[in-house]
Amino acid sequence: MSNSFLSTSIEYLKGVGPKRAELMKKELGIFTFEHLLTHYPFRYIDRSKVHKIKEVNSAEVHIQLKGKITRISEAGEKRSKRLIAYLQDETGVMELIWFKGIKWVKPKLIVGKEYIVFGKPSQFNNSFNLVHPDFEEKTTADKPVANLQPVYSSTEKANALGLNSKGIEKLTKVLSPQLRGQIPETLSNSLIAELKLISRERAYREIHLPSNAEMLKKAIFRLKFEEFFFLQLRLLKQKVIQDQKLKGFVFETVGESFNTFYNTKLPFELTNAQKRVVKEIRNSMGSGKHMNRLLQGDVGSGKTLVGLLSMLIAKDNGYQSLLMAPTEILTIQHYQSISKYLEGTGVTISLLTGSSKTSERKIIHEQLLNGELDILIGTHALLEDIVQFKNLGLAIIDEQHRFGVKQRSKLWRKNTIPPHILVMTATPIPRTLAMTVYGDLDISVIDELPPGRKEITTIHKFDKDRLYVFKFMEKQIAEGRQVYVVYPLIEESEHLDFKDLMDGYESMARRFPLPKYRLSIVHGKMKAKDKEYEMQQFAKGFTHIMVATTVIEVGVNVPNASVMVIESANKFGLSQLHQLRGRVGRGSDKSYCILMTDYKLSQTAKTRISTMVRTNDGFEIAEEDLKLRGPGDILGTQQSGILDLKLGDLIKDNQLVVAARGMASELLKKDPNLELQENYLIRQHLAELIRRKPNWGRIS
Ligand code: ADP
Ligand code: MG
Repeated sequence: MSNSFLSTSIEYLKGVGPKRAELMKKELGIFTFEHLLTHYPFRYIDRSKVHKIKEVNSAEVHIQLKGKITRISEAGEKRSKRLIAYLQDETGVMELIWFKGIKWVKPKLIVGKEYIVFGKPSQFNNSFNLVHPDFEEKTTADKPVANLQPVYSSTEKANALGLNSKGIEKLTKVLSPQLRGQIPETLSNSLIAELKLISRERAYREIHLPSNAEMLKKAIFRLKFEEFFFLQLRLLKQKVIQDQKLKGFVFETVGESFNTFYNTKLPFELTNAQKRVVKEIRNSMGSGKHMNRLLQGDVGSGKTLVGLLSMLIAKDNGYQSLLMAPTEILTIQHYQSISKYLEGTGVTISLLTGSSKTSERKIIHEQLLNGELDILIGTHALLEDIVQFKNLGLAIIDEQHRFGVKQRSKLWRKNTIPPHILVMTATPIPRTLAMTVYGDLDISVIDELPPGRKEITTIHKFDKDRLYVFKFMEKQIAEGRQVYVVYPLIEESEHLDFKDLMDGYESMARRFPLPKYRLSIVHGKMKAKDKEYEMQQFAKGFTHIMVATTVIEVGVNVPNASVMVIESANKFGLSQLHQLRGRVGRGSDKSYCILMTDYKLSQTAKTRISTMVRTNDGFEIAEEDLKLRGPGDILGTQQSGILDLKLGDLIKDNQLVVAARGMASELLKKDPNLELQENYLIRQHLAELIRRKPNWGRIS
């Protein structure tokens, strides 16, 4: 049921009419009363304060002056013609200047009369003036001006036709008194009481015509809360439906494989975070529901081990597992380290990649089908239809951002009931964003690094310090360490970047000549096989320096590498820098990350680099990244629809998002289908929102 007042067409508003209505629809997307009401001001101007002319010292803020016009003059000819009025208060004189509309303005300015003038100063030489200010005559019976004047966004076209901020303000003023009794509540009495919310009607009025700052705050709070609340409610509701529908294999026991491994093979104590996460996974795989979980953990936080323990639980319950990683080298590393862990446990494991031989594949396919094989590790070769399991119970995806949704969904079909899914990522997404965007995923976080990790020291160096950097590399290599040197590869300027890389490689080769030094190079133009080979040479410790483009970004583990030099570091995004840095600091040696740039740096590049120098904390970096780039950019357009909030900001309003989610979740716990009388309004509004935007929130 939609409300007839709110859905009234905008041309029925007094002062609009068909022609303006057309403009409002086309330019501002305002078709109905509701659209006008939710065309919220993007800021407010405080008109309660009167400034003194002498104190005006910035062109940054709007000011309000009170004074007498002492003189009016016109200057210039034709197109450069301007009108100047001199406004005087007890502290000084300010020029008010008009280039346009002189004919209309001039008769309203009368020498000797007092005016209230409002505008943003422009700086001219060393003095300030006001160009095209608002003004009104100061009458003796000074009517109180509204303290907070709304400012609305508009478009150039709409502006030109009188629908500027002022024009929109006029319309909301017309609409405002008509709201009485017309704005239905959307929240339950108990929520309104608990949060001390003002009514929706009041909120709409106050957000456009604030009585005072406090009421404005309440209005914004009410409307933002509503926005977040319904977003979260919808996401959670979807999840409830999904959980009800999707049965999962029940892994009831933690048995011999897990216990043997845990008690006798585990080479170190799990961190508390790892323990907590393993418990979360165990509970969820034992619940009878399908698990679809995102495991976030900074680089080096020990996600692989958590994955392995989960696979052992699957094994103990008679199920097979797979672990998929985006590159061959990563799968090989996983295979090697996990095989070593599993020695003597009787758990069987194989590796399947694009370069597995046909004869090997045949054996693997057979063993998968007859159940001899417990764990299969591989690249997306695993996704091929020919790879069939006897009883796949758990699929783990490492470094998920390299895999698309489509690929993930292929995994779901590898058994009659979809296997449990665990997606591991080292690109932390701030929690508030993650729980909104991946509303249908459960999220586990490893927020602790294993003990004894040495902080990586990060340094910013300019290109002119290159000799110093070479010297430093030389010293590290002399101590037996290895060095990465990474060049950016940005698609638009691929050729230039490639040249940079080759130039860099050559100067490096001159500075670190054979036979004493051996260099590897890896870049996007090489064949996969050659890349693998070079990576292996470096991983084995045969080469000292790895010169590469960003292909080494993901998961590679060479514990002996202790220096990461990033060339043109300003060209990398923050999370990318953090990922790259995570390639070092994996062994017992003190590690370094050197960010190279030239002197000219944009403001955001400076922020990125100083953030890197300041902290090693992936979550802190993710938050900063989000501030710099905005969520849409980080998540891609595919998911940005969900972030289409009118008032709320998932980052800045972090606490409110969490609160709204908590309340939505609480509500659904008590009343999963919103059947209680007291939640009637909520149910109705939710249905209305879903009717309008059927795909809203459909993700993952
Ligand atoms: P990531 O989360 O980046 O995938 P890994 O799983 O590769 O991290 O683990 C990084 C390193 O830390 C590995 O060498 C692993 O053996 C080690 N590790 C994992 N958990 C612990 C722990 N609890 N204590 C000590 N070392 C650990
Ligand atoms: Mg990893």
